[in-house]
Amino acid sequence: MLPKSLEWLGWQLAELDDCGLRRQLAVRETAQTAEVSIDGRRLANFGANDYLGLASDLRLSEAAHKAIEQLGWGSGASPLVSGRSHVHATLEQTIADFEGTEAALVFPSGFAANAGVIPALVGHGDAIFADAGNHASLIDGCRLAKAERFIYPHGDWQSLAELLADCDRYRRRLIVTDSLFSMDGDVAPLVEIGRLAAEHNAMLLVDEAHATGVWGYSGRGMVEHLAVGAPELEQQATIRVGTLSKAIGASGGFVAGCRPLIEWLANTARSYVFSTAGEVASAAAAAKALEIVRSEPHRRGELLARASRLRSELAARGWDIAGSVSQIVPVMIGDANRAMQFAERLREQGLYVPGIRPPTVPQGTSRLRISLSYLHTEEQVGRLVNAIDHPK
Ligand SMILES: *Cc1c(COP(=O)(O)O)cnc(C)c1O
Repeated sequence: MLPKSLEWLGWQLAELDDCGLRRQLAVRETAQTAEVSIDGRRLANFGANDYLGLASDLRLSEAAHKAIEQLGWGSGASPLVSGRSHVHATLEQTIADFEGTEAALVFPSGFAANAGVIPALVGHGDAIFADAGNHASLIDGCRLAKAERFIYPHGDWQSLAELLADCDRYRRRLIVTDSLFSMDGDVAPLVEIGRLAAEHNAMLLVDEAHATGVWGYSGRGMVEHLAVGAPELEQQATIRVGTLSKAIGASGGFVAGCRPLIEWLANTARSYVFSTAGEVASAAAAAKALEIVRSEPHRRGELLARASRLRSELAARGWDIAGSVSQIVPVMIGDANRAMQFAERLREQGLYVPGIRPPTVPQGTSRLRISLSYLHTEEQVGRLVNAIDHPK
């Protein structure tokens, strides 16, 4: 029996059920890799952000073990008190070297990074300009900041230009965008946005969560990739956010940039100051993973070639893959219940492809979302295309 004050939960959950929007928590019984067991079923796994196959790489486990042997498990305090070990310091230097920036700061998660960084940069009298398709953590970071918010339609840099044209009166301006969007697999018009940021003296925060380790010549992300045709973008993207929990295979979020930026954030980003430093084991694993990203570029090369083939094959068979140009490939279905039923049929054929529905995506745009990994075999991808095209 629910206590009277919580009865509303029963009604609300029933309403989610009615709309086909109630989520169930699944349990994975095996390591996070290209084939997994979830709720007792063996499945080819197209539902992880482990793009480079590093989450279960034994070299990360070894690095973590070594760090635990030396420093134990817990960090025990905020980084500003006694929580920041030499492993964390080394990781931050490794990230700065990797990103080609003066410094970097590691947060407990990517979500925490965005929730802390944005309010540390803008407040009363300032303006934020945000893409309508931004990740929830960027949205929440913007909500926490006491600045005026302007949301421009997804990817629409002309609308951003119009908004900026009218905003010289604000003390500071901050543009906030994902680089590679996780629901459509499409890319922000960063070259145009970078130019606008420079023209209007705006800070530009680019969240590379799904691009770090995967895109760009050295794996830095979409800014590096697009800067090939527009080198000034590297300077214009002044605030780089990334996560260690997707392609990097560990956990934690980071911000990379110039030294004053990093010092300011270490002093004022509340999710950094008031949260315990992440586990030493994860920091050590992340540093090892960044080394692998550097020394094994074939992982991202093969992944992106496979993604390009998959997109062509699905498009050739008439499937709508929205604006995907990446290793994230949506298959648009529309209705939430239909998308979930489609995903269940694929599971019955041994394929895990999550169905994505509101509130994660707008009404009427429910979809399957395929995330590719370096570890997938051609056989698995072939089976996936067949099963989507001939659902049983
Ligand atoms: C996943 C994601 C995050 C959050 O990163 P975590 O490390 O998982 O907390 C932040 N931003 C974007 C764009 C993401 O896709």
